[in-house]
Amino acid sequence: MKPLFHPRLVNTPEGDPGVLVEFLFERRALLFDLGDNTPLSPRTLLSVTHAFISHTHMDHFIGFDRLVRLLVGRNKQLHLFGPPGLIDQVGHKLAAYTWNLVANYRADFALAVTELGSGGRARHAHYHSRDAFRRSGETESVISDGLLVDEPQFSVRHTLLDHRIPSVAYALEEKQHINIWKNRLDELGLKTGPWLRELKRAILVGEADDTPVRAKGEDGERLLSLGELKRSVVRIEPGQKVAYVTDTAGHKANAERILQLISGADTLFIETPFLQEDAAMANEKYHLTAARAGELARRAGVGRIVPFHYSARYPDGEALAREALAAFEQRDR
Ligand SMILES: [Zn+2]
Repeated sequence: MKPLFHPRLVNTPEGDPGVLVEFLFERRALLFDLGDNTPLSPRTLLSVTHAFISHTHMDHFIGFDRLVRLLVGRNKQLHLFGPPGLIDQVGHKLAAYTWNLVANYRADFALAVTELGSGGRARHAHYHSRDAFRRSGETESVISDGLLVDEPQFSVRHTLLDHRIPSVAYALEEKQHINIWKNRLDELGLKTGPWLRELKRAILVGEADDTPVRAKGEDGERLLSLGELKRSVVRIEPGQKVAYVTDTAGHKANAERILQLISGADTLFIETPFLQEDAAMANEKYHLTAARAGELARRAGVGRIVPFHYSARYPDGEALAREALAAFEQRDR
């Protein structure tokens, strides 16, 4: 199957934490954390629709400015999610600049900020370039089951962890993965094209089987029913799951929340800042050890782990990855 999500670290594992998830066949991306993002091209950053922030220690938030700089002057909306205090902090960042000219631009760039509290409580606010980024539209809501984004193709859930401050971990889940059999298209005299995207959308939103679909045939357009196409050219598989966990103490309460969030993930991005021999230091700083990260991934039945957030104290950062992998695969035990 061709995966829908193409996730990767924004920086090397020694650099600022962050993951970019690009979508197959779509100019769209999601960002997890907003640390230094200079390795990403303006074109890539312009495709970001949602940014999910763990917490606002500087190495997770300094990239906000570059992202906003690229988006100002465009008719776009950026959704931001993060810990309690985020709405004020976004406001403070924006207030550090002068926006007297931006308010006259024809295009309106909007930030929709959601800060996530305990018990599912959430606060929302907007900042529009047209209003010189004055705060507006403040509301509150209660989020059930950690669900932040629910689109036909995918959802994003979160959990709050303890990093001596709240730190948010996230899981991105594709709902169903729809494959098109190329050979079956050939057999039916159908050609690939944008109509396949419309076909997938109709399946994802659950349209009725007798819905007509305009298919592209070798001799022009053909009208086929959705049900017919589902039976003949489509294969539906379980979707992909990608999880992002960073800056969290390794204690039991956190572990339980992490296990629940990352259960069965295909790919887990997880911090490995300290070796197990420095567990005392990891505890003091409310971080995981590499061994603890690998152990949690194993217990959650994760498919693959990507270790990152290496502490600069280790000249050989790969020792952290090795320790995490050994715990993940339960070697040397
Ligand atoms: Zn931190």
